Amino acid sequence: MQFTTNYHTHTARCGHARGSDREMVQAAVDAGIRILGMADHCPYPGVSGPAAGVRMTLEQTQGYFDSFAALRDAFAGQVELHIGFEAEYFPGLFEGMLDFLADYPCEYLILGQHFDSGDGGWYYGRPTDDEAVLARYVEQVIRGIESRRFAYVAHPDLCRFVGDEAVERKHYLALCQAAREYNLPLEVNLLGYRDRRGYPRESFFRLAQEVGNTLILGVDAHAPEQFADPAVMDDCCRWAAQFGLPMAATIPMEKRNLS
Ligand SMILES: [Zn+2]
Ligand SMILES: [Zn+2]
Repeated sequence: MQFTTNYHTHTARCGHARGSDREMVQAAVDAGIRILGMADHCPYPGVSGPAAGVRMTLEQTQGYFDSFAALRDAFAGQVELHIGFEAEYFPGLFEGMLDFLADYPCEYLILGQHFDSGDGGWYYGRPTDDEAVLARYVEQVIRGIESRRFAYVAHPDLCRFVGDEAVERKHYLALCQAAREYNLPLEVNLLGYRDRRGYPRESFFRLAQEVGNTLILGVDAHAPEQFADPAVMDDCCRWAAQFGLPMAATIPMEKRNLS
């Protein structure tokens, strides 16, 4: 198992990633990626505060598509390039976001639930022992899964619950079961692995093992050089392989109906 496909790639438009669009694609090609999906943090009408600060603006959307459409041609024969987004499921705002995207040739969405609301109230990557936070996270992810708009769940174990194991099990098991029911892969996130962010969590993927989920590898690249570390990529693949679960190599593009 190795990284030959990756659907989780950011651009500098989100404000916390580095490198030009071309450098990012070149780095992925140099790393041996043959199917590359761009999934920058989605422009999202109605968001504010921290949830607005980590994503491209609505005005940047057209330039994103134009730039990667040109790079798709420039790199033809070297890499198959897809253009999508990583997005949260924000109750009350999600449909508006889909309406906004309907005007663009967005090929897929991945579900990355970083915040608990459109104003960025709580960042789920913060450690917490509050069951209500984990329950809210899982409920939002499940609603996102049930929307059928997403191709897979990015860092499904982002919510950093440090409380009781039985509580963690109860909620995260429900997430794994929903993903299984809707046939959505769960991502093993290389960035989290590399930076030891608290995810990917072994306890979470033991639950996925119990449920029989399909996994997928995601680089979550925020800089070109994050493609250039074969040792850590191999390590992460080995880590993911320990669960003995099927790995999705590709995601179907034709199933995503965004309009
Ligand atoms: Zn990011
Ligand atoms: Zn991401």
